[in-house]
Amino acid sequence: MAQMIPKILTAVETSWQKELAQAYRDPSKLLEVLDLPTEPFQAGFAARKLFPLMVPRPFVRRMRKGDVNDPLLRQVMTLEQELTAVSGYSEDPLDEQQSAVPGLLHKYQSRVLMIIRGGCAVNCRYCFRRHFPYADNSPSKAGWQQALEYIRADQQIDEVIYSGGDPLMAKDDFLAWLSSEIAAIPHVRRLRIHTRLPVVIPSRITRELLDWFTGTRLQPVMVLHINHANEMDDELERAVKPLRDAGVTLLNQAVLLKGVNDSVQAQVELSESVFAAGIMPYYLHVLDKVQGAAHFDLAESQARDIMAGVIKRLPGYLVPKLVREIGNQPGKTPIDLHLQP
Ligand code: SF4
Repeated sequence: MAQMIPKILTAVETSWQKELAQAYRDPSKLLEVLDLPTEPFQAGFAARKLFPLMVPRPFVRRMRKGDVNDPLLRQVMTLEQELTAVSGYSEDPLDEQQSAVPGLLHKYQSRVLMIIRGGCAVNCRYCFRRHFPYADNSPSKAGWQQALEYIRADQQIDEVIYSGGDPLMAKDDFLAWLSSEIAAIPHVRRLRIHTRLPVVIPSRITRELLDWFTGTRLQPVMVLHINHANEMDDELERAVKPLRDAGVTLLNQAVLLKGVNDSVQAQVELSESVFAAGIMPYYLHVLDKVQGAAHFDLAESQARDIMAGVIKRLPGYLVPKLVREIGNQPGKTPIDLHLQP
């Protein structure tokens, strides 16, 4: 039996990489599989040059065929509006293109972000890092020593966050090595992963990932990124269960997006569905004002109204915190709801 385990692991790992290789990159192919006409989307195809289209098949299988307004499709489909420069929207809305050392951002006092990989398995059209200069922030394995040295030297850092792009685009053997190096730094307590990859390719939760993520003394936290209840399905629930069973704290952060999840009902369903899979609603972000994504934005008053409605419908533990991220602030900025009796 023991001899079979490596074969099983190889098969599992191959399966997520195969899904990645088979992701849709051509908008016409994506539309074809969804039984949608090309014409309403044709003018937006050029937006691929600004930010490529990339959509894995497991995510596409959760989209409704024949629906141009499908909330999952809307998050990933190139649209003509991306091509119009809108005043007030910038390429670096959080002013974060200055790293402490290559591959490492030190935005908050006690936490550092490691930019593990530039790419993602899915390209979300609203992404605030769609213009991030990943090429300048991709150290080699030797280069990571500089980032580790930075963490060792600052006793205030008690949490390391794997970010990107999507950090789970990296291979498990590299992540296992990096995590063991971080675990050897006494003042670091927690290891957090921010990822959307298991949402779009659930087979990314491999046995090896479970082993390195839960095998050190560090407390493991995974923050998933799920914006709509339709993103949850049995396959994703089954994939996250071993993480939950192994004691990983599972949280969800979402972005409030016009035409995707901008209603009380959509937010209630999102919280209910992630919680049913053992994932706690954590943050609901208003859009970071990145160039090319203005068509997803909502007025802050609308965001407040939606959250006020959610609070009436859900117990407090299912209500995410409505926040805005402001560059160079010491933490996320909560949005005051001014609730009426
Ligand atoms: S997965 Fe996250 S980092 Fe990648 S494109 Fe989507 S929002 Fe951006």
